[in-house]
Amino acid sequence: MTAEIIDGKLFAEKVRAKVARQTEYLKENAGLTPGLAVVLVGEDPASHVYVRNKNKATIEAGMKSEEIRLPETTSQEEVLAVVHRLNDDPDIHGILVQLPLPDQVDETAVLDAINPEKDVDGFHVINTGRQAVGLPAMVPCTPLGCIMMLKDRLGDLSGLNAVVVGRSNIVGKPMASLLLAENCTVTIAHSRTRNLEEVCRGADILVAAVGRPKMIQGDWVKPGATVIDVGINRIAKDDGKTRLVGDVDFEAAKEVAGAITPVPGGVGPMTIACLLANTITAACRIANVDVPEV
Ligand code: NAP
Repeated sequence: MTAEIIDGKLFAEKVRAKVARQTEYLKENAGLTPGLAVVLVGEDPASHVYVRNKNKATIEAGMKSEEIRLPETTSQEEVLAVVHRLNDDPDIHGILVQLPLPDQVDETAVLDAINPEKDVDGFHVINTGRQAVGLPAMVPCTPLGCIMMLKDRLGDLSGLNAVVVGRSNIVGKPMASLLLAENCTVTIAHSRTRNLEEVCRGADILVAAVGRPKMIQGDWVKPGATVIDVGINRIAKDDGKTRLVGDVDFEAAKEVAGAITPVPGGVGPMTIACLLANTITAACRIANVDVPEV
């Protein structure tokens, strides 16, 4: 058996096209232009690439995009002042502060300063708490993309055994919470889990968010399972160049799984698409209009 390859790039294009239609509808029918602001502090090259891509995607969707670049030496007070200014700006509905921040800036203090209604990254404790108790919340983009792909492939997830390997606040924990909300029986595994292979073998849905190249072996996968590989790891090739691999041994796992996301081209492209979708959600909630189904 060879698994169906879940095409995250194609799925993300569909989400982004829907966001563009929603933006057009909101502009024409509600006089509302969703606006996203991204704050970047410092010179981290990977962060610069992410922010450029987010800015491009926002503009392509027809939204207002504001990019604020601050020098590496910016103080915490200065970053907080920018966040407060954006909280008060009626044209901005989503605020994202690109992580990591330089050492002199306290990440938690900055994330907590974002108005939870504009917290399109879904990292504010208010949103974490609201999601945990089943209230409307802004949901972190990466797990949101994963759950969208799972529901698209499997439909009703009720009663399925889901194993999430990794318990970070940005991926593992919110992923587990979303799967629980879909009535899965959820296990969260981590570095102290005993018999990880056995735990994984029980999964109808296996989500890997570890950050260890190809750690999940083919024979850890239950035949027919749906495997979502969140990991993005850069490894050296024989020719001295590098390539991206996930946390799952894709070649082996695809012979066993029912469906699997590749790396690259799986979860990654969905993250920015979900950021745009979250900006639509935030804009509609703030303006008190329904999210258009167009
Ligand atoms: P993280 O904060 O480093 O968390 C990694 C988790 O994996 C931790 O909970 C850790 O357990 C667990 N872990 C580490 N070694 C393990 C082992 N040998 N066995 C079982 N569990 C183990 O990472 P993250 O931010 O969640 O990211 C995870 C991966 O996803 C990374 O490759 C990252 O690049 C990628 N990622 C991708 C996207 C995307 O858009 N596709 C977005 C975010 C992250 P402990 O808690 O016990 O230490």
